[in-house]
Amino acid sequence: MSIGSILLGLSLLILVVLILAQPFWAQSEREPRPRSRKQQLLMQKEAVLEEIRALDFEYDTGKIPEEAYQAQRTELMAVATATLKALDELGTEAPADDVAAQIEAAINRVRSQKQSPAQAVTAVSTTATVAKTAVPVNGASKFCTECGAKVDASDKFCAACGNKIAVPA
Ligand SMILES: [Zn+2]
Repeated sequence: MSIGSILLGLSLLILVVLILAQPFWAQSEREPRPRSRKQQLLMQKEAVLEEIRALDFEYDTGKIPEEAYQAQRTELMAVATATLKALDELGTEAPADDVAAQIEAAINRVRSQKQSPAQAVTAVSTTATVAKTAVPVNGASKFCTECGAKVDASDKFCAACGNKIAVPA
């Protein structure tokens, strides 16, 4: 390894550290929340990946020589890797809570959606049961025990469904 390549490596390392630290400084001045640091890193990751894509494109179209391409790509990959690492270190605590909260919220939403029709069904069957059992209302009329239709007290069969009407004792 020549001194030149060691110096290049060192300068790249310093560059990466500066690039990674820069959003943190800018960040802490404006907004001290740790989640925004993550957003910065995410944006940085996107930006670096976009740069890599652009670099690949330039190389593919022959706009830059192999040597410059390799050097720049190594540099960009180092930044991307460092950004991903930083994201990994940040990403274990806060987002886990977020995900848990989101899952819980989603479950609650499903629950409340499932509950209302179920309650409606219960309400309907309760009314049906009431209608079935409420046979005599007054002396003149009662209700069919099968379909709940109003039938005359003197009727032997339900006019609606043909069910035999039980004669009240
Ligand atoms: Zn009936």
